[in-house]
Amino acid sequence: MTDPIATRKRVRTCIGCSATSEKRALLRIVRTPAGAVEADPTGRKPGRGAYVCSATCFERALKTARLQRALKTNIDSDQLDGLVSEVTRAFAAAEA
Ligand SMILES: [Zn+2]
Repeated sequence: MTDPIATRKRVRTCIGCSATSEKRALLRIVRTPAGAVEADPTGRKPGRGAYVCSATCFERALKTARLQRALKTNIDSDQLDGLVSEVTRAFAAAEA
């Protein structure tokens, strides 16, 4: 299922700082149909997505549970370690 409003709009909002940016400047975090939460640098994975503009905003969104609310899921500690390193790697790759 796609969100008609989000699909029409090209600009995405960072859930950490609420800054808006073009989609490619933000990193998509996706909850896959299988229930895993993953970084999605391609922006093409199926599932419910949320966007962050930096690793700092990712951590803030996590601490304030905005990420969990945006994805409508809880992120358990097993998933969290992998997710944090994926996000860190994705932003490091984007800067390189
Ligand atoms: Zn941000």
